Amino acid sequence: MRIIATALVTLAIIIVNRPVPDPAAQERPPVIDMHLHADLPPYDVPPGSPALCRPAPCEGTGQSTADDADTLARTIEVMDRYNIVKAFLSGVDADTVQDWVEASPDRFIASPFIVEPGHPDVETLRKAYEAGRFGGLGEIATQLSGVTPADPALEPYFALAESLDIPVLIHTAGIGPYLPKFRVEAGRPVELEAVLTRHPDLRLFVENAGYPFRDQMIAMMYQYPQLHADVSTITWVVPRTAFYDYLEAFVRAGLGKRLMFGSDQMRWPAKIGEGIEAIEQAPFLSPEQKRDILYNNAVRFLGLDEVAK
Ligand SMILES: [Zn+2]
Repeated sequence: MRIIATALVTLAIIIVNRPVPDPAAQERPPVIDMHLHADLPPYDVPPGSPALCRPAPCEGTGQSTADDADTLARTIEVMDRYNIVKAFLSGVDADTVQDWVEASPDRFIASPFIVEPGHPDVETLRKAYEAGRFGGLGEIATQLSGVTPADPALEPYFALAESLDIPVLIHTAGIGPYLPKFRVEAGRPVELEAVLTRHPDLRLFVENAGYPFRDQMIAMMYQYPQLHADVSTITWVVPRTAFYDYLEAFVRAGLGKRLMFGSDQMRWPAKIGEGIEAIEQAPFLSPEQKRDILYNNAVRFLGLDEVAK
């Protein structure tokens, strides 16, 4: 009896003394998010709405944030939890972008969201770059207005970005928001050929690797070694099977060093973690390939010497 009692006391001591897992202590390796939004691209989402999903019929999960300030606070929380040390941050409203930069200095590459050529105009942007307010260009989302990448109205933007040697994110893909002027046809990756031949030093990366224009995008990446791509919205907006098929095709094609993780987070910060975990759980990726997509490729693309761990 005494032996049993002693054993129980010992067990109780072990249980009481067992360290409680501290989320902060569970150190995650660093991640770079190459596609984050400070505010919402040109459509409204009522607070509490489920996340976007494709293809219909489908049901999005989660709940959208209450407002821009809520998006900021909850995104920073998720970034801390997943050790996201840098993010390419796109914003429609320059003041909102500034709020983010002030909330976490040195973490964001601030960048203007462009849905219509001319807004903002190139001269306004040039001054903003000179003043150090932006470090990237895009997302250029003029496909949402039916404007192709090769449209002459975009030419001065690419020329400016090439002269400044800054990263440029463009939405050239087969899917996007349900907007009246959105055109699938304006998102074919071969539309980028005129831009890349005119601007060979442009540091361009393409949203969702042009999903689902796989063959065109692979051809473009083979032919234009400077061209990079993110895997962002497709980590959560399409079925996981569709994302894995697409990702695996690019990795098997040998392009695993030119894909970069992005969350394309708009108003659903929980999707950032889901996207990271989609990469981490991909059964066909080696640990090295996962680190490349989540971090190493972006370090190289951005020309970062070192990033805080
Ligand atoms: Zn986006």
